Amino acid sequence: MPTDTAPIYRTRFSPSPTGPLHFGSLVAAVGSYLRAREKGGEWLIRIDDIDPPREVPGAARAQIETLAQFGLQSNQPILYQRSREAIHRKLISWLVDNELAYPCACSSKSLPESGIYPGTCRRGLAAGQVPRSIRLKTALEAIGFVDFVQGPQCQNVGRDVGDFIIRRGDGLIAYQLAVVADDHFQGITEVVRGADLLGSVGRQLLVYRALNFEKPDYFHLPLVVDQQGRKLSKSDGADPVSKYPPTQVLRLALRALGQEPPSGAQSLDTQWQWAVTHWSSHKVPKGPVTI
Ligand code: GLU
Repeated sequence: MPTDTAPIYRTRFSPSPTGPLHFGSLVAAVGSYLRAREKGGEWLIRIDDIDPPREVPGAARAQIETLAQFGLQSNQPILYQRSREAIHRKLISWLVDNELAYPCACSSKSLPESGIYPGTCRRGLAAGQVPRSIRLKTALEAIGFVDFVQGPQCQNVGRDVGDFIIRRGDGLIAYQLAVVADDHFQGITEVVRGADLLGSVGRQLLVYRALNFEKPDYFHLPLVVDQQGRKLSKSDGADPVSKYPPTQVLRLALRALGQEPPSGAQSLDTQWQWAVTHWSSHKVPKGPVTI
């Protein structure tokens, strides 16, 4: 039970509306939901629609409907990230005003092949240069954190990424800024998502620090890969889970999460009851899991 001193546990499943949910997305939805149930907390659905050029019309609605077919409903009204754009822009201005971020005139073509930003625009733009993106300042420092599933991690963003983009050259808000702004706004206490995003945590922790926001815990679920070892991707047309009977998909998702559901035909309700009672976070494998 939550007490006055401990914030309620809250996590989220936050798909980008770039296509139908595939098996990997469902594993993330199921894993985050069961973790929230284990903690007696809340599970939220958020639609990460900050990238209109990549958005597929109707995808958000289809994703929400697919989750509902599995019996997964958000404990709070669904937040659409785009509705928060004005706040995202205010946060970016605040970071620039406080010299924690700066405008950058570099085009992607002018950057080194390594992808590591060399800090070209850090000391200001020359007369006539047109600002394109905004970057957060980084330093050469090791950023350590312990992921519940993946264990102790150490990332050096200053060395391996450099100052990174929080507002894109096309004016859109970058994922790294929006995810921190909205996880903070929604009171997310633990981020539970696929391990493909483990490498973003260092950048996100730097955004938390710059904005003076309390950081969440992290729990990165095993990545689901195909027979060739490739990550399933919504935008690359991975097989939609809505094509298959939810009872079968849920059983496979539980297995991918290291749980051992009983075999044999069972209704969705019976499987959820089993999953909520028997769920063990300690059994979740690091991955990757092949389908
Ligand atoms: N919107 C991201 C995706 O669909 C997930 C972001 C996150 O969980 O931090 O992959």
